[in-house]
Amino acid sequence: MNSSTALSVADLSFSYGGKKALNQVNFKIQPGECTILLGPNGAGKSTLFSLITRLYDARDGRIELCGFDIKKQTRSALERLGVVFQQSTLDMDLTVLQNLRYHTALHGMGRKLAEQRIQKELERLAMFDRRFEKIRQLNGGHRRRVEIARALLHKPAVLLLDEPTVGLDVPSRLAIVDYVHRLAVEENLAVLWASHLIDEIYPDDHLIVLHQGLVKANGTVDDVLKKTAQSTVKDAFYLLTQGERKSITPP
Ligand code: ADP
Ligand code: MG
Repeated sequence: MNSSTALSVADLSFSYGGKKALNQVNFKIQPGECTILLGPNGAGKSTLFSLITRLYDARDGRIELCGFDIKKQTRSALERLGVVFQQSTLDMDLTVLQNLRYHTALHGMGRKLAEQRIQKELERLAMFDRRFEKIRQLNGGHRRRVEIARALLHKPAVLLLDEPTVGLDVPSRLAIVDYVHRLAVEENLAVLWASHLIDEIYPDDHLIVLHQGLVKANGTVDDVLKKTAQSTVKDAFYLLTQGERKSITPP
């Protein structure tokens, strides 16, 4: 395995009862890079995240975080992971600060270090002034920012985000997309971002297209365009996930 690989997924399959959700999935992601896991609804993105975070246990395949096997070296592996789940997991009736302190306490962080890190992450997201507000008082974009700050407090090497911009207005969405892309470079973080939105992909991103549990393409944006002989990611995505572009014929 490449020594700088932050997350490695090998021969991973998973079924719900008799229904296959992931089929022999293989990929690696590197530090300092944003990897977009692009797939339509039902592709298997959240299932993959549930396996990486060990909410589900995979019988087939192997997952490693910074070289640590998540089954055999679970603690060393999972402490390197930060996660923003598809559904918010903040406590609505606690303040921003209380939500973040709870996370640092779970990670066994001392008070002083915890306060320093909370301040740093909130300031970077322009949320420090809102720290005494309850989550319930914040808009959707600001809640997402708090979740991103929280996911970074224990200094993970890998950040998973499961469709973090769904339901947000365009300016909030673009701000988060931009922030996470910069974060990957500045913090040498390996980001895995699940999305079905093509405009969240930047030209330098690593792109993995997932459809019906299968990896349909894996490489740079240019690799994927070449492989599909298309000139836009939108066309490549349609080709890989629908076979051909469906046209809507007026009645
Ligand atoms: P995505 O996140 O890409 O939308 P999911 O991982 O949620 O996809 O779902 C992948 C497939 O697995 C879908 O066909 C979905 O219906 C199915 N699935 C997801 N969760 C469950 C579950 N708890 N029980 C049964 N089937 C599920
Ligand atoms: Mg999902």
